[in-house]
Amino acid sequence: MKQKSTPLKKRECGPCKACCEVLKIDVPELKKKAHVLCRFHTGTGCGIYETRPPVCQHFLCGWRLFEELDDGWRPDLSGALIVRRDAADVAKDYRDAPYGLSIGIIGGEETMTRPGFAEFVVGEIAKGIPVEIRSNSPGTLLNHHLVDIKAAARDMEATRASLARIFAMIRAARWKRGPLMLWHLYRLEVARQTALMEKRLNKNS
Ligand code: SF4
Ligand code: SF4
Repeated sequence: MKQKSTPLKKRECGPCKACCEVLKIDVPELKKKAHVLCRFHTGTGCGIYETRPPVCQHFLCGWRLFEELDDGWRPDLSGALIVRRDAADVAKDYRDAPYGLSIGIIGGEETMTRPGFAEFVVGEIAKGIPVEIRSNSPGTLLNHHLVDIKAAARDMEATRASLARIFAMIRAARWKRGPLMLWHLYRLEVARQTALMEKRLNKNS
């Protein structure tokens, strides 16, 4: 939950409490698990707003930072909590990127297939930004699945279908332990490697 950025003035959190629930916080002043509402949240807002820890004071989700995200992207409405991170914290190979994005899918598949989601993700990947998704589950780097980003931009419906498949795989790994989780992670890895191989084959043909 680390960052310091300039908020878009027109955006207010309103009733959203996604970050106070979804994110893990582990600083001396406050420790909370991911996907558990902070004990200081009253249900309508932060109960210690004036004295909330610096980590909370400095946090802004992507919806409060990115101009191109419209009002429907507020995390409690869209089901997508976008967190801007240092690029290297998202993917080591992308350390030269200006930032990275970690998108927590708190809605269902409809979050990934809603109009605008694929367009935003493809636009960020095309700029060289690492974008990972997770859903209270192991995450995966979408850059490794949407490897032919020009093709992904040309056929958004196919891209939405790919995103839905990726979501189903990470979701399947969600509550699994041991061999079952490994099996679902293996399927995800096969999908990632297949996408990379197809990209290489297309390049060579
Ligand atoms: S997730 Fe974003 S909009 Fe929601 S409470 Fe946190 S900063 Fe505000
Ligand atoms: S201290 Fe307040 S702002 Fe920080 S996570 Fe808890 S409820 Fe949210």
